[in-house]
Amino acid sequence: MSEKIIPINDLRSPAMKIPATLAAPTGLLSDALGRPLHDLRISVTDRCNFRCVYCMPKEVFDKDYQYLPHGDLLSFEEITRVARLFVAHGVEKLRLTGGEPLLRKNLERLVAMLRALPTPSGRPLDLTLTTNGSILARKARALKDAGLDRVTVSLDALDDAVFKRMNDVDFAVSDVLHGIDAAHAVGLGPVKVNMVVKGGTNDDQILPMARHFKGSPTILRFIEYMDVGASNGWNMAEVVPSGDVVRRIAAELPLAPLNPNYSGETATRWRYLDGDGEVGMISSVTQAFCGDCSRLRLSTEGKLYTCLFATRGHDLRALLREGRDDLEIGSAIAQLWRGRADRYSETRTADMAPMEPGARRVEMSYIGG
Ligand code: SAM
Ligand code: SF4
Ligand code: SF4
Repeated sequence: MSEKIIPINDLRSPAMKIPATLAAPTGLLSDALGRPLHDLRISVTDRCNFRCVYCMPKEVFDKDYQYLPHGDLLSFEEITRVARLFVAHGVEKLRLTGGEPLLRKNLERLVAMLRALPTPSGRPLDLTLTTNGSILARKARALKDAGLDRVTVSLDALDDAVFKRMNDVDFAVSDVLHGIDAAHAVGLGPVKVNMVVKGGTNDDQILPMARHFKGSPTILRFIEYMDVGASNGWNMAEVVPSGDVVRRIAAELPLAPLNPNYSGETATRWRYLDGDGEVGMISSVTQAFCGDCSRLRLSTEGKLYTCLFATRGHDLRALLREGRDDLEIGSAIAQLWRGRADRYSETRTADMAPMEPGARRVEMSYIGG
């Protein structure tokens, strides 16, 4: 039987008649470029206690900045319902993000609800969280007990002065390191650490960070500074290409390339030749990986974004709150993914693709990383 597809926006129209026969809201999905849907990133808050200069610069995210009111946020029940439909469509990995996800009250309750979701394969979901680590030491045990598998912690420097310049709220490195230790201690490992490298601001920390985490159970990954959002004043001159990062590390600590763990992995892997572990490079600017991109993002207020650089989201919350049933919402999700043709990083590298007039890219703190 051929499937009847409902465009996600048409579903919102009261005039829209829902066809009697719809696709069952299950089954694996491929987008317009043949990419499967595997990975859903869920932003649980647009607020953060840091003001990282590359993400929520103070000049924009100041005391007058209008965050979303609480009623606009998806509730834990709404998030879980949506996640259940995505899992039925083949999503195997859920990542909670933000803003700072640990600022969302009782987040462990959401973790427990997601952990209880059934999967078509019977294999457990991969349930992870990205955090700035600021309150991780306090939360690690509860998150583990609720069923979280792993955490990724962002840390941009080992030197306090440089780190404070990056987070812009005077937060000390040692507190984040305590959070990482606590995560390991309760079994939320292997912990990955993400370091965004901003040329001229923290690139002198590449080697100290590599030396610090070499030989530890923590996997350090270097991220190229990206042109996400419209607030950070991004400039190509401040991007340190991953190739340079590899060369700088290898000059002191010899490295060799490693095969990816799985297809679609965002980081390329490098192992230390002395056997003391590995580092990763996330080269979103200089070596785009759109060809394998199997990620969909759900914003704090329930909009779906098919690309990190999208200017438009698709309003799933409206469908949830209009009382649409699982069949309707599942079909809308399938429709959205099947029509997806985003490959922003590839086109940006080729020709710095111009944006549509009046379009504004969504902020990283709203959509999650
Ligand atoms: N607050 C949490 C944190 O910092 O880990 C989660 C949300 S944060 C938006 C997710 C990831 O995006 C972090 O690792 C952060 O460093 C990264 N990020 C934010 N802005 C970025 C940018 N302009 N370029 C590259 N990575 C960025
Ligand atoms: Fe907050 Fe994370 Fe953005 Fe830093 S990167 S401002 S910690 S959301
Ligand atoms: Fe995926 Fe868009 Fe990033 Fe390409 S630019 S890897 S399509 S999120």
